[in-house]
Amino acid sequence: MQLYKTQNLIVYNSLTSTKEPFQPINEGHVGMYVCGPTVYSNVHLGNCRTFMSFDMIFRYLRHLGYKVRYVRNITDAGHLEDDLDEGEDKIAKKARLEQIEPMEVVQRYTVDFHNILQKFNFLPPSIEPTATGHIIEQIEIIKDILDKGYAYEINGSVYFDVKKFNEAFEYGKLSGRKLEDMISNTRELTAQDEKKSPQDFALWKKAEPQHIMRWPSPWGDGFPGWHLECTAMSTKYLGERFDIHGGGMDLKFPHHECEIAQAEASNGQAPVKYWLHANMLTLNGKKMAKSTGNNILPDEIFSGDNTILSKAFSPSVVRFFMMQAHYTSILDLSNEALLASEKGYQRLMEAVNDLNKLNTDSTSDFDVKAWKQKCYDAMNDDFNTPILIANLFEGVKHINLIKEGKEKISSEDLRLLNESMTGFVFDVLGLENKNDSGKDMEKLTGVVDLLIKLRNEARANKDFGTSDKIRDQLAALGIQLKDSKEGTTFSMSG
Ligand SMILES: [Zn+2]
Repeated sequence: MQLYKTQNLIVYNSLTSTKEPFQPINEGHVGMYVCGPTVYSNVHLGNCRTFMSFDMIFRYLRHLGYKVRYVRNITDAGHLEDDLDEGEDKIAKKARLEQIEPMEVVQRYTVDFHNILQKFNFLPPSIEPTATGHIIEQIEIIKDILDKGYAYEINGSVYFDVKKFNEAFEYGKLSGRKLEDMISNTRELTAQDEKKSPQDFALWKKAEPQHIMRWPSPWGDGFPGWHLECTAMSTKYLGERFDIHGGGMDLKFPHHECEIAQAEASNGQAPVKYWLHANMLTLNGKKMAKSTGNNILPDEIFSGDNTILSKAFSPSVVRFFMMQAHYTSILDLSNEALLASEKGYQRLMEAVNDLNKLNTDSTSDFDVKAWKQKCYDAMNDDFNTPILIANLFEGVKHINLIKEGKEKISSEDLRLLNESMTGFVFDVLGLENKNDSGKDMEKLTGVVDLLIKLRNEARANKDFGTSDKIRDQLAALGIQLKDSKEGTTFSMSG
C-alpha cells in the first residue's frame, strides 16, 4: 500500500492563507509546476534555495508513493527588465553587451544552472520546457483571451484587460490586493503608454526593428509577455487545473496573479489547487544583491574563493543548512551558521555510517516505530524539515547510546531504524554521504597550510626557487594561493 494512504499531508496554501489537507485532483497522481530561472546570468544562491525547497517537496511526494509529474520551465525569452512591460529583454540585453547570440546566452546559463543543481544533488524535473519552444501555444492562448473579450490589441501589441477581467472574476486574490487600491496607488498613464490602464499587462509585445528575439504572429512580429509562458506550459503538460504551483515569494505579484488571470480568462476556471511559495535567503542579515556586493555564488562557496566565508563548504553542507529552515521562513546565511551546519552534517553522517556496525539484542530500549512516525508527522506538517532534522538527531542520540552499549536494539528495530534514517536523510532531504565534504577536506586543508608554512620559510630564506615551485605546483592542482598583509590564504577550483 502506498504511504500517502496512511500519512496525512497538510500543506500551506498561499491562495487561502491556511493549512489544508493535501488531496490531489486525481488520486495517486500529482501535477506540480514551478517557475524556473531566467537564464541570463549565473544562478543566484537565493534561487537555488527556492528550487531546493521544491526538490525536497518533489522528493517527499514521491517518497509517499505519488506519481508526480514535475514541470519546471526555463525562461529563455520575454522576461523584461522591469515588471511594467518596459525595458529590454534580459537575455537580449546580455547578448547585446557581450556581442553574442541570445541563444548563446541561454545555452551558457542553462548549462551553469544544471551544473549547480547537480552539485546540490537535485532530482531532474519530469519535463523542463522552454518559453521559446512554446510560442505557438502562447499565441493560441492570446487568441482565446481576445475572443473572450479580456484582451485588446493596439499597435501590434496585445494587453490583458484587468478591469474587464475583474468584473467577471477577481483580480488580486492570491496576493490579497484589491484592484481599486491598486488603481488609486499607481501613477497615471503617460501619453506614450498604449495600455488602457496601468494594471494591464502584455500578452504580446511588438518587436521594434532592433529587437533580435522575434516571432511572427497574427499581430505582427513580436514576442510573448513573460507571464504567459507559464500558463501555456503548465496547461499543456498538466492540464487546465492541476495540483501544485510553486515559486519564490517574490513571484506572487504580479507574475502568479497574472497567471491566474490568464488561465481563468481562457479556461473559465482557477488553474491551481495549492499555491506554495518559498521564502528568501539573506546573507549576513541583509538582502543579497550584486549591486551592493552582498552576494555569493554557489561555486564561490564550494571553492572557498570568496571574501565572505572563512573556508570552503561542500554542496551537501549547504543543502543541509538550507534544510534546517522551513521553506516558508526567511533564512540567513553566515559563516557561523555554515560552520554549525557542517558540524551537524558530519555528526549525522557518522551516525548513518555507524548503523551497519551496531550489535543487536533480543529487545529494544528505543521505540523506533514511534520515532519513525514522529519523523513523518514533521514532514506531513507542510514539509517541516527543521523538525524532521531535530527528530533525526534524536535517532543519532540513540545510535550513539547503542554503540556505547548503554542501550539495546533488536535486529528488527535496527532494520527499521536503518531504513527510516537512510530514507529521510538521502531520499527525502537529498543529502549525500561524501567523504570529500568532511574529514578528507580537513586533512587537505591541513596539508595545504603546511605547504604554505614551508613556502613562507623558503621565502624568508630568499629561496625563491622553492617558494615559486610550491605555488606553481599547487596552482597546477587547482589550488590558488593568495598573499595579503594578513598572510597567505588559498582557494580551490573545480
Ligand atoms: Zn512562472
